[in-house]
Parts: sequence; structure tokens; C-alpha cells
Amino acid sequence: MAKDLDDVLARAVEVVGPPNVVTDAEVVAPYTTDWTGRFHGTTPAVVRPGTTGEVAAVLALCNAARVPVVPQGGNTGLVGGGVPRAHELVLSLQRLRHLDAVDARAGQVTAQAGVTIGAVQSLARAAGWDYGVDLAARDSATVGGTIATNAGGVRVLRYGPTRRQVVGYEAVLADGRVLRRLDGLEKDNTGYDLGGLLCGSEGTLAIVTAARLRLVARPSHTVVALLAFDRVDDALDAVGESRRCVDTLQAIEFFVRGGLDLVCETFSIPKPFAADHDAYVLLEAAAATDPTPALAACADRLADLADVAVATEPERREALWRYREAHTEAINTLGPPHKLDVTLPPATMSTFLARVPDVVAGVAPRARTFLFGHAGDGNVHVNVTGVDPDDDRVTDAVLRFVVELHGSISAEHGIGTAKRPWVHLTRTREELDVFRAIKRALDPRGILNPNVLLPADR
Ligand SMILES: Cc1cc2nc3c(=O)[nH]c(=O)nc-3n(C[C@H](O)[C@H](O)[C@H](O)COP(=O)(O)OP(=O)(O)OC[C@H]3O[C@@H](n4cnc5c(N)ncnc54)[C@H](O)[C@@H]3O)c2cc1C
Repeated sequence: MAKDLDDVLARAVEVVGPPNVVTDAEVVAPYTTDWTGRFHGTTPAVVRPGTTGEVAAVLALCNAARVPVVPQGGNTGLVGGGVPRAHELVLSLQRLRHLDAVDARAGQVTAQAGVTIGAVQSLARAAGWDYGVDLAARDSATVGGTIATNAGGVRVLRYGPTRRQVVGYEAVLADGRVLRRLDGLEKDNTGYDLGGLLCGSEGTLAIVTAARLRLVARPSHTVVALLAFDRVDDALDAVGESRRCVDTLQAIEFFVRGGLDLVCETFSIPKPFAADHDAYVLLEAAAATDPTPALAACADRLADLADVAVATEPERREALWRYREAHTEAINTLGPPHKLDVTLPPATMSTFLARVPDVVAGVAPRARTFLFGHAGDGNVHVNVTGVDPDDDRVTDAVLRFVVELHGSISAEHGIGTAKRPWVHLTRTREELDVFRAIKRALDPRGILNPNVLLPADR
């Protein structure tokens, strides 16, 4: 194997050029630790192809020699899926950075896998459009990575997750064959939806090298409201009520007192209101005409609203968003967190939020639990600090609790290595059999991200 690996690396150098087969420990280090700092590994090299043809040639070499590969985009994934855990080769797609001009007739754009979501948004906005996916990691997360994780983000409520934006794809199979369907046909019922299959496949089925993305109309008026409540249940009622009465909503986010305090302390930001409150809901509405009156009318109907701040100007809107978006970064300052991104049905959300801190305390009495998320989608990010990175008791307890309450163990971050031992909690044996059959069909030698998503073979 060592000799095969040496051969693969030597031939990879011929394919991508010497500067793009990186083995220097210092340069390799950022590719082998994930964004949270919880997941580490080692790799024989980071290979950085610059074209689809180079990706294909490198994969053909790896497949022939059975060298396992972990694809990596912006390395902002939160489930340890993009870093090598068992000395796999890292295939970085960051050099695939070409972004076509916006196709204004189609309302679409073609982007290579390494283009960041921020770059897609900027290009789209400059042309009078927007991209439906938005997330706090926008300036690092890539088109390929967001497809591989089927990333959600703050506007799923309105535009759906990444899968809904993908109209075409280009991908390289494990053996180097290229699949390409980038014409952007909105309707094409000619068999299996292979592009859709790649969404959420976490680099286990093929390497995404480019995508044709659907753009959305850019509303000219945007307004953000931060609502404060003294009971979490009042905040949950407000989520339902705002969905009912504001038809231009594009985000409904949620956080609680402990997270807000941490954000304000960590980044020295003034609190949003004179008094402290237990729960906060951030609403963003956008439309061709000013949605402020509809939002204000909705706020007036919320009997238990304790306070409200409204922003229409970009700077002030960003300031309100910061209370929510800075949670992830602020929590990371406390040490590597256990990040449990889960979905609950509305019927059990209240029970979950009330009891999950006790569930955590039951197995990790000194841990701190932070709760925030995309309330419009029933998506809670349970972040737990003060627990050893390898201690899985909190993960086990929380995920079992989620399933007891009829939720899903992953809302938008995926399974990665972090949740691999628990996939069977939300996927049946029959579904997992089909997953394995699909994996074998596309990657018979099992070289693509072999240590994520699918449970180890029985
Ligand atoms: C501050 C912060 C906020 C975040 N907010 C959100 C959020 O709101 N919603 C959300 O869904 N996620 C969020 N995330 C998580 C993360 O940004 C997403 O999972 C994102 O999709 C990862 O993209 P990436 O390019 O960084 O992929 P990476 O982290 O590099 O990889 C993620 C997975 O995709 C695979 N992969 C990467 N590129 C390819 C490719 N070209 N072909 C095949 N497989 C590939 C990797 O092997 C890995 O399994 C957040 C992360 C941070 C740090």
C-alpha cells in the first residue's frame, strides 16, 4: 500500500503540478482539522486539482490503487465529514473557482465547486438577482460543499435547501468517469435525478466539480425585526403566528438568553434591549414593496411580546442579525463544542427545548448547553461545551431524546463522522441497505469518503 501510495502521489504530481500536491506539515495542518477544532486527522497529502479533468485523473489513480480520498471545499462543515480521520488523501476543490456570468434569460448561473456562496451571491446581486441559500459561513463555504451537505441556512423557509437550487451538475465518479448535465433544463424527466442524489451525499458517491444553480428574484425592500419574549413558549407561538400573517418572510431564527449573553460578552456588543428576556425570535421579510406594515401588524397581534426592535437600513439589519449569526463563533471560543443539529416537529419542540438541558446535565453535569437555530424549519442547534471531544455520551443522550420526540438527528449539517453511529436511529434497516447498494454502484471500491455517513459494514 505504501508503495502504491507513493506511486499515486508521484503520478498526481504529474497531473496537477508539484505545488498542488502538498505534504509540508504546516501547510497541510488546516486541511486536517475541522472548523470546530473537534475533529482532527492526518493525511499523506493534500491534492489540489485545478480542472475537472485533473480531478478525474487523480481519482482514476486513487481508485486503481484503492487509495481513500476525502473531498474538501471550504472546510466549514460541522460534522467532521471533510477532514481525514483514517489517513485518507485530502482532495481540495478550492482551485475550481470559475464562475460564469449570470444567464439572465434562464435566471441561472454555472459555478465550479470551489466558488464560495458569498461569491455566487455577489455576482447574482450585481446582476439584479440573488441566490436562495444563505448561511453565516457564506465567505468560505463552497458550492461543492453545500451541495454535498445539502446545506440549509437562514432562508430555507422561503427557498428550500441547496437541493432546490441545483438545476444541473458536473461530477466525477470514483473511477474518474465524468457525469455532466449543465444545460439548466427546468424540466427533464428522463430517469433518475442524479444531481439530486448528490445533494446530501457528503462526498461518498462522487466529487462535485460544478453546478448549474437556480437564482431567485431580489426583493427591493428588506426588514428585520427582533422580538423578545419572557417565555420560550410565547416565542414558539410567535413563530407560527408570523408564518400565518406575514407572507413575505424569508427567515425565522431563534435564540435564548444564555446564547445572547455569550455573544454580547464575547464580541463586546451592547444588548438589544434594556431588559433581559428568555427567548428571542428574529424575523426577516423581503418583498418588492415595503413589508414593514405587515410585520408591525403581526407584532401588534402578539399579546405576549415583551419588546421589539425593527431595522430597515442594511447596517442596522446586520446588527440585529449579528446577535443570531455570531452564536457559532462565540460558542467556539469556549473550546471545541459538540454540535447537534436536529429537527423537531412543532408538536414536540416546546418539550424538547424545555428538557434538553436536563438531558445533557444528566450525562455531563458540568457542560453548558446553548440552544439556537432556524425556528421556521423546526431546526435547533444544540451546542454543548465543556465535554471532552471524544466523549459521545451527550451526543447519544440528545439524539435518542430527539428520536423519542419524533425528530431527525440531522437537520442540515449532515451525518459526517460525528453522527455516523446514530444514523440507524432515523433511517430504517431497509433504507440503509439501499444507501449501501447506491454506494457500491457508484464507488465499488469504497474510496470516496469511506468513514462518513454510512454505518460501518455489518
Ligand atoms: C459559522 C458557520 C455557520 C454555518 N451555518 C450553517 C447553516 O446555517 N446551514 C447549514 O446547512 N450549514 C451551516 N454551516 C455548516 C457548513 O457551512 C456547511 O455544511 C457547508 O455546506 C460546508 O461547505 P464547505 O465548502 O465548507 O464544505 P466542507 O466542510 O469542506 O465539506 C463538507 C462535506 O462535503 C464534502 N465535500 C466538500 N466538497 C465536495 C465536493 N466538491 N464534492 C463532493 N463532496 C464534497 C466533504 O467531504 C464533507 O463531507 C455553518 C458553518 C459555520 C462555520
